[in-house]
Amino acid sequence: MSPIVMKFGGTSVADLERINHVADLVAAQAKESKGGVAVIVSAMAGETNRLVSLANEAAGSGLVGETFDDEYDVVVASGEQVTSGLLALALRKRGFRARSWLGWQMPMITNDVHGKARIEDIEGNGFSEAIGSGEIAVVAGFQGRSAEGRITTLGRGGSDTSAVAVAAGLNALRCDIYTDVDGVYTTDPRIVSKARRIDRISYEEMLEMASLGAKVLQTRSVELAMNHGVPIRVLSSFAPAGDENNGTLVCDEDEIMEKQVVSGIAYSRDEAKISLLGVVNHPGAAASIFSRLADANVNVDMIVQADARGPDKANMVFTCTQRDSELAVSVLTDAKEEIGFESVVVDRDVSKVSVIGVGMRSHTGVAKTMFDALSDRGINIQVISTSEIKISVLINSSYTELAVRALHTAYGLDAES
Ligand code: ASP
Ligand code: MG
Repeated sequence: MSPIVMKFGGTSVADLERINHVADLVAAQAKESKGGVAVIVSAMAGETNRLVSLANEAAGSGLVGETFDDEYDVVVASGEQVTSGLLALALRKRGFRARSWLGWQMPMITNDVHGKARIEDIEGNGFSEAIGSGEIAVVAGFQGRSAEGRITTLGRGGSDTSAVAVAAGLNALRCDIYTDVDGVYTTDPRIVSKARRIDRISYEEMLEMASLGAKVLQTRSVELAMNHGVPIRVLSSFAPAGDENNGTLVCDEDEIMEKQVVSGIAYSRDEAKISLLGVVNHPGAAASIFSRLADANVNVDMIVQADARGPDKANMVFTCTQRDSELAVSVLTDAKEEIGFESVVVDRDVSKVSVIGVGMRSHTGVAKTMFDALSDRGINIQVISTSEIKISVLINSSYTELAVRALHTAYGLDAES
């Protein structure tokens, strides 16, 4: 019989009162689930930030953040150890058999990229047997162990990924991710008061939403869930028991009866637009630009190339994060002669707004609706990029909210008030 996996984020375990409430939720699930329960916990809210600053301070500037020290992981992983022990104690107090499992005890084997390690395998040192025997496993999220036996962490927000990995490893029925919001919304409710909670969303759409700035789930956890077919339910640990309006199921597209053409609108303000003007246009020009950026680990997103003043010169425009933009400019400036361009211009006053929906594959006119809605508000589109299930535009950042609201209305996503 398949177990259920439950994961609780930082705000859900912020103090002992919250941890006791979580213990009640887990206890109720444990009574119901015939296949047992595994619980993954984050550190108490704010704790990881505190530990990161401590490590930074001890290491001195420059050491942590660029290349992570293995001792950085020893420090920041400790937050999850505390909450796993506290929750196991609270469950024992309620008469349940429960124990904590740290990353190295399971063991959750990762590669040795400290600070952002990737999970390679869960060896399951008696772990699934313990769950099968009816003991509640309380797993410290976010942490693992390298082949060398060192403690690793999975990158910020990584306990979502721990939870999905455990769920995949146990062949769990479902992975319930408890947080402080009651699901995934059609867009950011802080911007659009008529944003609606989505009942079901496909992995692919969720992946786009997560990587485009909807911060409910770590992007990698969605990827992992999609690859292993683990259904995720995102729900609030603050909602009253039995609340029917709690939760969004992230699942296979086939399990969604009513497919929307557009399911959500995402936006990101962390964008910079870099324009290389007067690039000598010959075969290999793009390769010479983007291979240099790749070597410098600059993650390039949108790209457009257009002829400039006749066919032998081109303008190359691309976007990256604001953080990467300085590096991108310096890498390109250093290679100005070899690449062959006239000048480089950076604009950091830009935002990316995207409409996402699997229904786009089979519907026409989705782009037209977007462009009409933006032009009606006098919003100029600087760069466009598309994929099968997404259209993104780059606009001046002062229009971000206006654009998101206009698109939310244009695609009929507004809640009826
Ligand atoms: N505690 C870690 C963080 O704050 C991991 C997590 O909560 O997902 O990033
Ligand atoms: Mg999180």
